[in-house]
Amino acid sequence: MSEFVRIESPDDLLGADTKERLDALYAKVPDVTCACDNLGQCCQLTPEEAAEDWATMYPLYTTEYLNIVDHVRSHFSEEEQARFLTFDEERPLRCPFLSDEGGCRIHPVRPLVCRTYGVLSREHVEETGSVYRGDVPDLWIHQFLRNERCTICPDTELDEPDKLDDHAKEMVTFGYERELIKMGEENDGLDEERRVLLVEATGRGRLVRWTWGGFNRLYRSTLDWARSNLKDALKQSRLAE
Ligand code: SF4
Ligand code: SF4
Repeated sequence: MSEFVRIESPDDLLGADTKERLDALYAKVPDVTCACDNLGQCCQLTPEEAAEDWATMYPLYTTEYLNIVDHVRSHFSEEEQARFLTFDEERPLRCPFLSDEGGCRIHPVRPLVCRTYGVLSREHVEETGSVYRGDVPDLWIHQFLRNERCTICPDTELDEPDKLDDHAKEMVTFGYERELIKMGEENDGLDEERRVLLVEATGRGRLVRWTWGGFNRLYRSTLDWARSNLKDALKQSRLAE
């Protein structure tokens, strides 16, 4: 179990400009309506899925993590803030933000991976792969098909079909991801002492993506805990990138 520090500054961690860019990126993803009889089933893993290296709310990019921290700090009670901001399970079977009723408690700031789930149908995925084959590197097509064939949901209804073609292009060209990586490179909000520990552990000064619990360990743990444990946590992680 990690030990955590409070965030003392009342200011948001994410600057207003970055928040605007992030919201503009999210607005490109078509909305869907969920019509299954077990809401939230896609926000938790079966033991078999966990064994196959699946994780909830992953990949979570640095900018998305900071955005969710800001939302948690401004929308939840002190008690719940403490619970969410000290959550340190890297690979929980159930997303910590999943409500008992199967809803998402951080719906306005949920990460890209949650927004894109169930948007493209099986036909859209295969068609997009075919349409862009030859125009983008084969590796992109391969990764797009591998990822998106696993995130199809037969029970979603598309609410914004006019956004679909542009969205499919962003997905197959990894446009969303490149923009998220760029935002994280411009400002990841990490203090210098933790950056030194990160370099010692990984050889790199910043992470591109991790999970909610993983990022909490990096950003919110006490320096004493981080000095003693962060290196091992990062070495053992298969999701810290
Ligand atoms: S994405 Fe699919 S499985 Fe998940 S809540 Fe919506 S309808 Fe249900
Ligand atoms: S952040 Fe929300 S949508 Fe995403 S896995 Fe958690 S509960 Fe589900």
